[in-house]
Amino acid sequence: MQSILHTAKELLLPALRPGGTAADFTMGNGHDTLFLSRALPGGQVWAFDIQPAALKATQALLDNNSAGGNVRLILDSHSNLDRYIQTPLDAGVFNLGYLPWADKAITTRRETTLEAVDKALPLLRVGGVLVIVIYPGHEEGARELHALLNWAAGLDVRAYNVLHHDFIAAKAGTPHLILIQKNG
Ligand code: SAM
Repeated sequence: MQSILHTAKELLLPALRPGGTAADFTMGNGHDTLFLSRALPGGQVWAFDIQPAALKATQALLDNNSAGGNVRLILDSHSNLDRYIQTPLDAGVFNLGYLPWADKAITTRRETTLEAVDKALPLLRVGGVLVIVIYPGHEEGARELHALLNWAAGLDVRAYNVLHHDFIAAKAGTPHLILIQKNG
């Protein structure tokens, strides 16, 4: 079976088109940033992280792949996304949690994650998508999952299609995915 991150990319892809806009709200090693950069030639990608090491790793990944001319790397919390993005978004991705090779205490947190998804949602154009991957196998991830499922279940179904992807026959802690698509 394909990984949840592969599924996330497949769900993002239909919303992406040349000249479009997207945000990687948790840059990390830059794999999602590179994916978005390649999918949006002539477009604009914003990528956020609070760790300088993430920006360094992402810049190196983009450089090694001769990509990134359409990317702006931002050293700031995704909860401040409204300071940077004022235009409609075709897609946004949150791959929550921490960087496996870095300090695991530097993880996404329920409060700032909720603030960020609340700010990102109104930016979606009609047909645009937000994909959120959540890892409940650690304490803060379990809190994020609970909060995000509540938040997503409360969205206006006339305005959004909301999907929750879960592995129902799997060991505890496997990742969940929430997809939100803005309706016409
Ligand atoms: N998408 C990344 C990739 O392709 O490698 C992996 C992301 S990693 C699981 C989660 C990242 O979120 C970490 O790099 C962490 O520093 C970052 N992060 C934590 N809190 C954040 C916040 N408030 N705003 C933006 N990024 C944050």
